[in-house]
Amino acid sequence: MCPERQVYLLDPQSLPPETIAVTFAKTSRSPQSFRDIAAELTEEKSAAFHEKWVVGYGHASVAEHAVLHIAVENVSRLAIETLESCRLASYTEKSTRYQKWGTEDFYRPPELAGHSLEKRYLETCRTLFAHYHEALPKVREVIAAQFPRRSDEDENAWERRIRSKYVDVCRFYLPAAALANVGVTINARALEHTLRKMLSHPLEEVRALGAEIKAVAQASVPTLVKYAEAVPYLQTLPRQLAREIPAVPPEMEDWCHLVAWDHNAEETALAACLFRYSHLSFEQARQAIRERSPEQISTLARMILGGLDRFTPPIRELEHVGYTFVLVLDQGGYLELKRHRMMTLSPQPLSTYLGYTIPRAIEAAGLLESYEQVMSTADQTYRELAAWNPDVAAYVVPNAFRRRALVRLNFRQAWHMIALRSAPNAHFSLRRLAQRMAERIREATPLLGQFLLVHPEETWQQIETQYFLRA
Ligand SMILES: Cc1cc2nc3c(=O)[nH]c(=O)nc-3n(C[C@H](O)[C@H](O)[C@H](O)COP(=O)(O)OP(=O)(O)OC[C@H]3O[C@@H](n4cnc5c(N)ncnc54)[C@H](O)[C@@H]3O)c2cc1C
Repeated sequence: MCPERQVYLLDPQSLPPETIAVTFAKTSRSPQSFRDIAAELTEEKSAAFHEKWVVGYGHASVAEHAVLHIAVENVSRLAIETLESCRLASYTEKSTRYQKWGTEDFYRPPELAGHSLEKRYLETCRTLFAHYHEALPKVREVIAAQFPRRSDEDENAWERRIRSKYVDVCRFYLPAAALANVGVTINARALEHTLRKMLSHPLEEVRALGAEIKAVAQASVPTLVKYAEAVPYLQTLPRQLAREIPAVPPEMEDWCHLVAWDHNAEETALAACLFRYSHLSFEQARQAIRERSPEQISTLARMILGGLDRFTPPIRELEHVGYTFVLVLDQGGYLELKRHRMMTLSPQPLSTYLGYTIPRAIEAAGLLESYEQVMSTADQTYRELAAWNPDVAAYVVPNAFRRRALVRLNFRQAWHMIALRSAPNAHFSLRRLAQRMAERIREATPLLGQFLLVHPEETWQQIETQYFLRA
């Protein structure tokens, strides 16, 4: 008789993560049910299995079945960048859009303890936070005048409606030292990789955080992250590459520069879709596309991409087409962009060298002069600190300063990101970016680009004019 289908949970409340991982791993060689395999395992046997197979023979994917939920509190946004750099994990972080920071909620780097620039660093951070607090009620007034309370709305509902709008503006003051909490869900393999990066990091905070996360994780997965150590390659390569960099001042370029996209991108995408549902060779699928009239091509593209909504992404074959952008945006915006995991993101180090942006509401609130003064102070402090230690100097850089990144993403991810980040509830920095990226993709690949779900009621130029005095 045909064995009956079985579906059940391995309960993480009764089985430790390492035992669950071994239970799944053993199905590769054992004819027993998962329940029976799990019943025979102990924590010691699981640890011995991982030592032999995962650590000894490098069958690392087994560790992906051990999942951890790690709560991390009061770490700098700068340190969180490394923690969140893993593509295969999930994060939720204290939002600069919905929460407010206290005046002392910033990180004091131990590298600076007793250093002649320590006082300067503390003063600059305190000044930035003082300006942030001064700006909150003033920018609120501006936003409140733009979005007055409706007759059917009570005070709390109105505050909720306008809160993110004025907090969105004030976040430009916050330096990378601002502390945040982040919840991380990650499997042991991805965690080991993240720990290796953290333990190799030039900043003491990141290394110490890596060591703490490792210690905490070992209570749950004693074997799987035990051997995570600093990686000499990650430690030395940045220094070696630094010696190869020509000594020229950095140049500004178009802030949303589509540097490259795939040759014959549209033909490739459509051929990939035919290929997927056929037995054709890829060359035959290409030929089938080439033989179609422009009208037939257009109909086929509409069949694949037309009529989708935000919650129904296009089929995976749209990933066979990629775009490379150089993007320059404010650090606050960059911190949101980096949360998109299905792309390759190469940010340059955080610095003040590309200048700072000015939200228009700062001027409307009568804060322009003091804003420029405090940004200039932060810039000077950064430069003095950077002459000694550019990694530590980055802590003092406010969200207003620009950050440049090289980004490679496929059409499917671009479709998702643009739909999410051009929506009216997204931050204006991201809305501007999403609109401009959509424009670039449409210029390069109009057949595919016409189907991007970009919010139709504004353009990047309108956003720039409405929200930025200087973008
Ligand atoms: C209006 C708004 C408010 C936000 N507020 C906050 C906030 O307060 N705090 C905060 O931390 N973040 C916040 N975010 C960021 C948000 O939670 C996402 O982390 C970010 O937008 C990345 O997008 P994504 O998760 O859809 O997927 P991406 O990382 O862009 O990945 C693309 C797609 O791949 C799939 N995918 C990727 N990784 C996984 C995975 N591990 N498991 C399952 N599917 C996966 C999903 O289908 C996903 O849509 C906010 C975003 C928006 C738009």
